[in-house]
Amino acid sequence: MNHPEEFAGREQLRASSSEFRREIVEVAGGVFAAIGYSASNVVLIQTASSSIIIDTSANPVDAQDIVEAFGERFRRPVAAIIYTHNHPDHTGGATVFAGGDNPAIISHRILVESGPEFARGPRDGGDAFGTKLPEALFINAGTQREYGRVTPHTRVGFLQPTRLIDAEEEELVIAGLRLHLVHAPGEAPENIAVWLPNQRVLVPGDIVLKTFPNLSPIRGLKLRPPQVWIASLNRLMRLDAEAMVQGHMRPVIGRTEVARALRDYRDGIEIVLDQTLDGIRRGRTPDELVETVRLPKQLADSPYLQEFYGNVAWAVRGIYADYAGWFDGNATNLHPLTPRARGERMIALMGGVEALVRRASDALTCGDFQWAAELADHVIAATGSREATEIKADALSQLAERQINATARNYYLTTAQYLRGQLS
Ligand SMILES: [Zn+2]
Repeated sequence: MNHPEEFAGREQLRASSSEFRREIVEVAGGVFAAIGYSASNVVLIQTASSSIIIDTSANPVDAQDIVEAFGERFRRPVAAIIYTHNHPDHTGGATVFAGGDNPAIISHRILVESGPEFARGPRDGGDAFGTKLPEALFINAGTQREYGRVTPHTRVGFLQPTRLIDAEEEELVIAGLRLHLVHAPGEAPENIAVWLPNQRVLVPGDIVLKTFPNLSPIRGLKLRPPQVWIASLNRLMRLDAEAMVQGHMRPVIGRTEVARALRDYRDGIEIVLDQTLDGIRRGRTPDELVETVRLPKQLADSPYLQEFYGNVAWAVRGIYADYAGWFDGNATNLHPLTPRARGERMIALMGGVEALVRRASDALTCGDFQWAAELADHVIAATGSREATEIKADALSQLAERQINATARNYYLTTAQYLRGQLS
């Protein structure tokens, strides 16, 4: 036990935190990105006599920090604010940038017409973003570091859009500056990409990030439609951008590198989708497909597809449920035993609660953490045993420490804290 390679994923996740170090980056003449000051990036475009802002950070506190960091580069008045999409980490600081300038607030029409996303309520203390974790346990949230923990996302600084984009593509001239807006759904149905044809800079929103895409988020959202996402990436590839400022992480600079990022992203989604659909047609179950669907080596090694935020296995399960429904095709699973009934039978099979708890404890000791958690679940479902609950908490903590995926790590660790009574 405790071979360094066991923790390679976690150390990769830790290293990825450097993506969120604070810096103002000039990606092209007069186009600046504020990285790492909030959960998401803010872009400032200078015009001859004003500023245009793309995305506004998570809340007014972060937005004020960003205004100060931009310093003299940020010139009033602000002529326009563009929201790439509705997520609160991108829209919560608009009032600060707007000030008294009364800028146009631009978004896709879907942003104002769609209601809030349906999402599962909290369960057993789980939290994909690690919001409740103590600093010592938190590495990052996959797309951000501590922001969202110390200064939570709010709607306090949200300003209602005043100019809505309907078309798939729309050309705008604001304060003499040409912008091309491209509807690019995927992560969010209302996502728009902003293309600056003269500066050759692309601001794609969250349609491309430096992580495998979060196609099927564990916080309980619908599948983000892969075919729609692929089509959006194809559209953005045709622009031939020379710099790209995604909604999170450091910008991608250089024509070849931007093309590679977009291509890897598209190919990664396409391959996982194709392999999964092919498996479904051949009658494979989600559990079987998770064992076999893989990115080919070249894509698995891509810096744009590391599983810091999204993850291939969950994408497979999400695609399966979306295309084929909840039933895996195994008749045993049409009406499975309840967890309690199964737990009682497992206890009887093992010759009592103590024997089963001992097996769970042994599994934990030998590093078979998933099995330890599964055995503990049987006991917990049947008896609510405190000892089994503690074994489960320890097993989840150990699984967390071997994760490259931030949302898995955060979910394991937050649940473990809850099970130990350290959180309520
Ligand atoms: Zn985002």
